[in-house]
Amino acid sequence: MNKRYLRLLVVTALLAVSYRVTVWMHDDHTDDDDTTTGFGSPPPPTPNRVAVDPSVEEDPGLGFSDEINHLGLPRGSSPPLPHLPLCPSFPPKLEGPLRIEFDWTRTMDDVHKESGPGLQEGGRFQPPDCISQHKVAIIIPFRNRAQHLKHWLYYLHPILKRQQLDYGVYVIHQHGNGTFNRAKLLNVGFVEALKEYAYDCFVFSDVDLVPMNDRNIYRCHDQPRHLSAAMDKFGFRLPYKTYFGGVVSLSREQYMRINGFPNEFWGWGGEDDDMYSRVMYKKMEVSRPDNRVGMYKMVRHARDLHNEENPHNAGKLGLTRLTMDADGINSLRYTLKHVTKHALYTMVTVDLHGPK
Ligand code: UDP
Ligand code: MN
Repeated sequence: MNKRYLRLLVVTALLAVSYRVTVWMHDDHTDDDDTTTGFGSPPPPTPNRVAVDPSVEEDPGLGFSDEINHLGLPRGSSPPLPHLPLCPSFPPKLEGPLRIEFDWTRTMDDVHKESGPGLQEGGRFQPPDCISQHKVAIIIPFRNRAQHLKHWLYYLHPILKRQQLDYGVYVIHQHGNGTFNRAKLLNVGFVEALKEYAYDCFVFSDVDLVPMNDRNIYRCHDQPRHLSAAMDKFGFRLPYKTYFGGVVSLSREQYMRINGFPNEFWGWGGEDDDMYSRVMYKKMEVSRPDNRVGMYKMVRHARDLHNEENPHNAGKLGLTRLTMDADGINSLRYTLKHVTKHALYTMVTVDLHGPK
């Protein structure tokens, strides 16, 4: 009797231990699943997240990093996070054609409600459930276009999140009332964004352009890309074959290869044609989405004060091949005034040392 009782006790104890082990193993497994399917709490923000996939290189090491280091910019590196898979090549939640309305009663509150959730300070985002394949800095040249910026943030944040990009929004604000210089502001954006994070792709976008199709992904390709291929103001097609204005994307390597953009195009006109020529002279091609995916709506506006058409810019275009290696990211000079972290974007205010 005693013996039987003892055996019963031992068996019960063994069963209890094995049950606990099973539960523990199951719990552990579920944790993994939670993280990958997005039901778990998102991982803490890290400066640089890297997927643990031996087939993916962290840094292609094409020699451009060294050039960037000449500019005093940091190179990002980070410990691997074991739990998250790579995001898929085709983001699963895209919607295709979108309805875009520029509602002038839109307030900053509306913008926050539409675009705020999931963002980190300064307009930074990383997908919570996978490691993005694209670290994208979005660079917007800016002065005195607050309402346009509201529309842009309202529409773009939800789109960029659906596109599963690891992105940051940088609004490069030209200080003072001097003549505007779009291309130089874009160069400043490249440098300032790289000071914060190891972005590998740069989307340079006017503040007044909103894509009408979220399949137009704000990422880089193996050639520089002209994303705004079909703008409403040009009847949803290119105004001319070599047009490269509006929204373009270049990888860090592509941008360095063309020595960035010209610093010497003050006022309206020509800088986008110079950018196109740089790409051609460095033996690259421009890729574009088709006319349906590349549709854009521009907020209607008059020409801004201090951004009048500059008749000298057209003359400069013939010289691009001669000037481009000396005028660009390697000759960029400016004075940083402030960097302000807003909830939905980082504002970089800069003195461009314009002509007096
Ligand atoms: N821009 C700005 N403030 C200005 C002038 C230009 O913010 O005073 C920026 C803004 O991002 C704008 C871009 O530069 O979308 C290009 O200027 P604009 O819209 O006048 O060019 P266009 O509509 O003729 O392409
Ligand atoms: Mn415009």
